[in-house]
Amino acid sequence: MHTLELRNVNSGYDKKTVLHDVNLTIHEPSIYVVLGPNGAGKTTLFRTIAGILEPYSGEVVFDGENVTSSRDVRKRINYLSHYNAIPEEMTVYNALTFYANVQGGSAEEVLALLHLQELRDTKVSDLSQGQKKRVSVAKVFLRERDLYLMDEPTSNLDPGYSKEIRDILIKLSKDKIVLYSTHNLYEASDIGTNLILIKDGTIALADKIANIKLREYRVGIRTSTDISKIVDAKRVEQGYYVLSVSNPEEAGRILTKLIENGVLVTEMRQLENPLQELFETA
Ligand code: ADP
Repeated sequence: MHTLELRNVNSGYDKKTVLHDVNLTIHEPSIYVVLGPNGAGKTTLFRTIAGILEPYSGEVVFDGENVTSSRDVRKRINYLSHYNAIPEEMTVYNALTFYANVQGGSAEEVLALLHLQELRDTKVSDLSQGQKKRVSVAKVFLRERDLYLMDEPTSNLDPGYSKEIRDILIKLSKDKIVLYSTHNLYEASDIGTNLILIKDGTIALADKIANIKLREYRVGIRTSTDISKIVDAKRVEQGYYVLSVSNPEEAGRILTKLIENGVLVTEMRQLENPLQELFETA
């Protein structure tokens, strides 16, 4: 079991403080989704935890050792930067082999893990943004470490590749701490075990998603039947009804009730992500 602690961390760039008095303790291996609008401080948080940015004050401690002063502890952290930093003039295979020689691991294995074999002899400069991202992620998986800081690992990726990476991280998180940043609310609720919400350089909320009480879900129902007499729904436009429920199970019960009443429902969907509320109220 590992422990990550941030104690009164103030951090930023050239005297511009971005993180303000951040305190956080994580013991449990899991995926922690670090969510927040652009500019909230997610990258700054990751760079500070990775030991790349030295806090102005306070400290980041992993398993009892300060990341700023201990090179050994920094070596136990895997950090996926938000930026692609793979040498452009190398082929995918040569670049990964280069890193494997420096830090250990096998280029062949990570090529297979991320299904990159077809791009093996392609120059990094010829890859799309999404392909570069997958190579950067492959580099992170060369060696198993104890703490993973994944800064937007799925930005620019197709849903299939995103899921592939999330599945690898979900497996790793059985015994590792994984911090995973995104500004995508849908992705956050998909992975959703623990949530760390960053707003204006502070932690506005850190909890298990299951513990976060969300006030209501808005559901849209498309049907040609007038359902306002059967359920408490408002018609917003031709054949389209909106209603509020307190949890997804209630939406299921409403659908069952409509079907039992012989209503043909052609579409039913959540109108906005309930995590949206956190952005607005935290
Ligand atoms: P996020 O990852 O949540 O989008 P960042 O941590 O990248 O947020 O940025 C937080 C704040 O720090 C922003 O106001 C941003 O402009 C500023 N910032 C980020 N990088 C630098 C830098 N290298 N120098 C100065 N300011 C920066």
